[in-house]
Order: sequence, then structure tokens, then C-alpha cells
Amino acid sequence: MLPARFDYHRPTSLDEALSLLDQYGDDGKLLAGGMSLIPLMKLRFAAPGHLIDLNHIDELTGISEEDGWLRVGALTRHNALATSDLIAGRYGTMAAAAPQIADPIVRNLGTIGGSLAHADPAGDWGSVMLAVGGQVVARSSSGQRTIAVDDLLETTFTTTLEPNEVITEIRVPSPAARSGGTYLKLERKVGDFATVAAAVHLDMDDGRIGQAGIALTAVAPRNIKATEAEATLQGAEPTDEAFAEAARLAAAACDPSSDLRGSADYKRHVSEVFVRRGLARARDLATGSGGEN
Ligand code: FAD
Repeated sequence: MLPARFDYHRPTSLDEALSLLDQYGDDGKLLAGGMSLIPLMKLRFAAPGHLIDLNHIDELTGISEEDGWLRVGALTRHNALATSDLIAGRYGTMAAAAPQIADPIVRNLGTIGGSLAHADPAGDWGSVMLAVGGQVVARSSSGQRTIAVDDLLETTFTTTLEPNEVITEIRVPSPAARSGGTYLKLERKVGDFATVAAAVHLDMDDGRIGQAGIALTAVAPRNIKATEAEATLQGAEPTDEAFAEAARLAAAACDPSSDLRGSADYKRHVSEVFVRRGLARARDLATGSGGEN
């Protein structure tokens, strides 16, 4: 099916994009990689009168680390993150997730900002950002604000962004000297959305767990942060018993639906297994006891 008629706008600066958003209001839609928006337009689930293409705004792309933060431009492609030496060397949860997103074509076009703005509960970046304490920077013509990803994601395909806001950057706190993280994803075939996935991150502090981040994909109407599980690990010794208890709590926080990918019970079970395994892997990476993501 062809999309409904629309006008195409190609701003070359963020200010220009913001004024177009103001001008067209609800009838304007931002275009990033188009990997989610274009299919929705073809199916006529979305029919914006004006498409505002972000792809020619250079300031929205890039990966850097400064002042204790990783800064990723919203238009940075999944593949740029999958192939970044900085991400591979220091941000294990992100490095493990990026190559598992979709297929090479989608990874070459889809963006991290588009993924978070789309708020698909089966999206991988949402859980990764919840586990690592990620934030987004949102700009509108009236200013800029920083939103924790936990406060950004409201429910399925819904965020707390205002209609005139653009995500410009994703920020992740630099990890502790001893830290580890990973992303475990079950998919029916390579390139599929997750049946279930778990993002974990551990910061170690003098042999104990300083900070734990645990989040789950595709088991609730939005990506969920397993806060009780995280709390039980804070200050604990990184033992298999502690991880088993955290995994039990994380699975209890899930609210999956039964669908073509599996029953609710199956997804809850996989969540528990993945959190337990992911935590053990994160500990091994943090303490240098071997293993790869
Ligand atoms: P677009 O499609 O361009 O936009 C999506 C929405 O976000 C639109 O509403 C748009 O207006 C808004 N938007 C975009 N950028 C911004 C911004 N900077 N600020 C505010 N709003 C913005 N994702 C996964 O996580 N895991 C998968 O396994 C996976 N598999 C896929 C398989 C296929 C076949 C396809 C087509 C997609 C898959 N995806 C998967 C989705 C993919 O990751 C998309 O890239 C992502 O969901 C949307 O990013 P995008 O840049 O393409 O955004």
C-alpha cells in the first residue's frame, strides 16, 4: 500500500527542524531512519501531512565521551554503535545489544533516537538504556530538558515527549572502573524482534555490587526496569544465590502476553533464566574472570 500524500521537508539545522515542528503541529512528523515510521505510513496507521527529515542535520550524529558521560547523537545508526570501538571497549550492555537489533539493512538505517521515540516494548535500546541509567536530551523551540529513559517511556508506542520536541542526544553515565554488562536476546530467527530479552549492568565497588541495572524487553506494555531486583543487589556480594533471587524478582515484575512468540509463562521463565545468566556474565566481565558478551 502507498502512504497517504505528504509534503517533505529537509531542514539542515536543528533550529529549522524545530520551527517546522512548531509550524505544522500535530500534522508534522519527524523522520529519522524511517524503519518504523515508513511501514506505519504505508499501512496508513500514520498519515502525517508533513514529514520533517532529520537526516541532513549533522549535529545529531556522533559518539563521544566527555565529563563522565557517553554522548550519542540521536541520529546515530544502530550499526555505528555496533561497530564503535568506544562502545565495544567500555559499554558492554550497549555493545552486546547493538548487533542483535534487526538485520543489517535496518541497522544501517535505524537510529537510537528513533528507536527510543518509537517506544516499542520489543525495542532493544529501551531496555539497554534502563539498565545503564540512560537519559535523553529533548529540544524544542522553547528550550531543552533532560529526561531519564525510565520517565520517557510511558506505554506501548507512547512517550512523554511533547509534540514539538526532538530527541537530540542520548547520555549514559560512564561506567565504574570495574563494571560489566550484557544483553541476552531470544528471537525466533536472526533479525526478529525479541521474544524476550534482558539487559544487565553491574558496577562493582570493592568486591561488592555498587550499582545494578536490570531491564527486560517484550514482557510488558513498555520496556521495564526491574527495580526490586536491582535494589536487592545493591551492596550485596555477587554470588550465584544473590543473582538467582534478583532473577526471581525480575521475572515477578514481568507482565507478558501470550502470542505467536510464546506463552506468558514461557516468557516469564526465559526472563528469569536470562537475568540470572546475564548477571553472572556481567560479574565475570567486571571482575576479569573471563567470558565474552
Ligand atoms: P523512524 O522510523 O524514522 O521514526 C520512528 C518514530 O520516532 C516516529 O514517530 C518519528 O517521528 C520519531 N522520531 C524519530 N527520531 C526522533 C527524534 N530524534 N526525536 C523525536 N522523535 C523522533 N528494533 C529493535 O529494537 N529490535 C529489533 O530486533 C528490530 N527489528 C526490526 C526488524 C525490522 C524488519 C524493522 C523494519 C524494524 C526493526 N526494528 C527493531 C525497529 C528499528 O530498530 C527502528 O530503527 C526503530 O524502531 C526506529 O528508528 P528509526 O530511526 O527508523 O525511526
